[in-house]
Amino acid sequence: MEYLSLYAAQKCVLQHVKLSGVETVRLEQALGRVLAQQVRANRDQPPYDVSAMDGYAVRNVDLAQIPAVLEIIDDIKAGDMPIKTVQRGQCARIMTGAPVPKGADTVIRVEDTQTSETNKVQIEYAVPSGSNIRLQGEGMRNGDVVLNAGTEITPGVIGVLATVKAAQMQVYRRPRVAILSTGDELEGMDEPLDPNKIPNSNSYALMAQLQAMGIEPALLGIARDDPEELAQYLRRGLEYDVLLVSGGSSVGVHDFVRPTLEALGVTMHFWRVEIRPGHPLAFGSSDKGWVFGLPGNPVSSMVCFEQFVLPALRSMTGHARLYRRTIEARLTQTLKAKPGRTEFVRVMLSRDVNGYVATPTGTQSSGVLLSMARADGLMVVPADSTGIAAGEQVVVQLLDGTAFQDEVGFRE
Ligand code: AMP
Ligand code: MG
Repeated sequence: MEYLSLYAAQKCVLQHVKLSGVETVRLEQALGRVLAQQVRANRDQPPYDVSAMDGYAVRNVDLAQIPAVLEIIDDIKAGDMPIKTVQRGQCARIMTGAPVPKGADTVIRVEDTQTSETNKVQIEYAVPSGSNIRLQGEGMRNGDVVLNAGTEITPGVIGVLATVKAAQMQVYRRPRVAILSTGDELEGMDEPLDPNKIPNSNSYALMAQLQAMGIEPALLGIARDDPEELAQYLRRGLEYDVLLVSGGSSVGVHDFVRPTLEALGVTMHFWRVEIRPGHPLAFGSSDKGWVFGLPGNPVSSMVCFEQFVLPALRSMTGHARLYRRTIEARLTQTLKAKPGRTEFVRVMLSRDVNGYVATPTGTQSSGVLLSMARADGLMVVPADSTGIAAGEQVVVQLLDGTAFQDEVGFRE
């Protein structure tokens, strides 16, 4: 099989994965989920014309002569229901959010008035009719669709849901995800330190990448490079919607992941992608779900998660924006590149008067995980590039935050 380009591999993954189904959650648990239903307003907001300011509700005709002295006939707080009508020469003291009384058509801010006598107020400035009034239904109209299916539930959306008193709502289900690490050389978290072994960092870095998306994965542990033991572990992993297997997907004599998955009925769609760090990267489907064979190298594993697993999981959970936000930055130092694969360089970001500045985190060896720990983003070096000079503009994919975009945002 040929190597796939980054875009072709992403497209293949996104064509195969499916929405995860729907469940009902309570408002308190809804942050970060995606609505699987429309939401309608259950009343007008505001429910009647209300004051936008603390001040005086007046008739605009009374402002023809300034200053104007008006008689205060009422004192209206938010939540009150005024019954008096404001007549010529009269006004009502009114608080922000309180209903505008009959007769009044304008609110004067308290800062633009003076009170010398009780029950009288002097208006210092005229304003146009309708000033400082929020009209009934200005925010939302009873029965209108205020949120569509596919809306990501942000804190602002939570506020809207609470406004229409949606105590629970239908959202897309999050897939159940399992993580399996493979390799004879790996040392588990609870095992004593052995200088000849490699700590199993991938299970935990992948766990954290999932947790950052709101998914709590199952950690299946470490499978040795033995076809039978591996098959046992993989069988368990294939019970999940998505299985992430770290290591063992190469073509070395101890790399049994791909043939074992195939023996268990998984159809492999690809196992090589032209990215650096990254390949080997395998992707397949079973009758129950999907499997990613991620590279064992710790940085490669995380980079492949970012480029393939994250967009796939976002698609499965109903998100429209699948890709991490990209920004433009200026590279601080000249960087050589080997053409042939799209390369992801770990960079730190800062800002100066001309915009963002990207500085590589140091050695870019795919085994040096500290480069990932220091990185704010992944700078993209397109596959045909032979290098980038200091001062050139580059595209950086941001690694943290909750901002995502519709398009991948860079040239492969
Ligand atoms: P592999 O893809 O199995 O050939 O592994 C490539 C490299 O990644 C080897 O140096 C492994 O020791 C290392 N590696 C594999 N799995 C893990 C893991 N779970 N945590 C940290 N390093 C790993
Ligand atoms: Mg291995």
